[in-house]
Amino acid sequence: MSTFSAPKGTYDLIPPESAQFLAVREAFSAPLRRAGYGYVETPGFEQTGLFSRGVGESTDIVTKEMYTLTTRGGDELALRPEGTASVLRAALQAGLHRGALPAKLWYSGSYYRYERPQAGRYRHFSQVGAEALGAEDPALDAELIILAADAFRALGLRQVRLLLNSLGDKECRPAYRAALQDFLRALDLDEDTRRRIEINPLRVLDDKRESVQQQLTGAPMMRDHLCEGCKAYHEQVRELLTAAGVAFEDDPRLVRGLDYYTRTTFEFVHDGLGSQSAVGGGGRYDGLSEMIGGPELPSVGWALGVDRTVLALRAEDVAPQTPAGAQVFAVPLGEDARRALFAAVTELRREGVAADFAYGGKGMKNAMKSANRSGARFALVLGDRDLAEGVVQLKDLESGEQSPVPLERVVAAVRAKLG
Ligand code: AMP
Repeated sequence: MSTFSAPKGTYDLIPPESAQFLAVREAFSAPLRRAGYGYVETPGFEQTGLFSRGVGESTDIVTKEMYTLTTRGGDELALRPEGTASVLRAALQAGLHRGALPAKLWYSGSYYRYERPQAGRYRHFSQVGAEALGAEDPALDAELIILAADAFRALGLRQVRLLLNSLGDKECRPAYRAALQDFLRALDLDEDTRRRIEINPLRVLDDKRESVQQQLTGAPMMRDHLCEGCKAYHEQVRELLTAAGVAFEDDPRLVRGLDYYTRTTFEFVHDGLGSQSAVGGGGRYDGLSEMIGGPELPSVGWALGVDRTVLALRAEDVAPQTPAGAQVFAVPLGEDARRALFAAVTELRREGVAADFAYGGKGMKNAMKSANRSGARFALVLGDRDLAEGVVQLKDLESGEQSPVPLERVVAAVRAKLG
């Protein structure tokens, strides 16, 4: 233990558990790569204004949860609390909106929110995200949802549910918003919530408190106020999901924490995670580009939570396929053997065989313990007498069988054994 520990609300990824995080990132990103999404990486911090304008002044993320700083040069920066605004900013800066559309991008990285830490809710967390910029097509919304649903399934998760809603657009949302405000203003709500009614009334629907939820019975619902365009669009998304065999639940109260969503909105929830049940979410954000000073650029995207998906795997007791460790573990006995075997390990690795070595001059017993712990199938044991004979002992760690193989043909011998 050092004098220091990880900051509150954060944790370290340590082997062997860290392999599950890599497996989840891989499971989320592999289908995106296959579907034509290109990798994008943006800085961990941005001008604070990008998030206050892009994510929304009324959201908790912006008002309470951003890590902001003023640089020595006087710039106002914020650690990124989410990915969409940054990715859109980067795409506009690179002029992708003038190229072939949609521009399909995926990303993976760390995000920062000053939240009240609890199980599944951290101040530093990890997301894999995807954005399809510059096209308004229900098939694109469906594509993204299907890719996420398939990724959860490929990981072996069975208890992920998809909630789906439409938030309308600039044609039908204003009238709905006004009707909702009228309804909410008549309720018995605290100061904070009353303020929210004026800034972003849809988010009151998302209030988790029982006292608020009870009063919301009979509240007007967006689905009853959708214009014809939004209704038809949403119906197509639903049909495409059904045709793809992706089950969903219509959730007329689903609104998301961020201000910029229009039309399709969705969330993936896992039932084994307690109150922090969302493992991912996203939707269409047709107005965001203009909000950050760009051209009209209708877009759709999602972000999936890596940390919570790992928790979901544990809750369901599913072990994701993690990359295998060493296939061969080398145990030298003596100084000359050490040099010769180290050279063999280097050669094995260059030839693509995963190999590890007993470092630290351990005795035979300890070195064999390391070999067994490494998970390797074979050990290469080299003593002075073997060295004199030009052989190395290849030991099957499962059966215990052992046979000498010529030292200069060690790669071929190991390959043959590994099949
Ligand atoms: P959001 O950007 O809020 O839509 O979040 C997308 C996903 O990221 C959520 O569904 C969670 O799985 C994950 N997530 C968001 N905030 C946190 C957090 N503080 N700690 C861990 N995971 C988070």
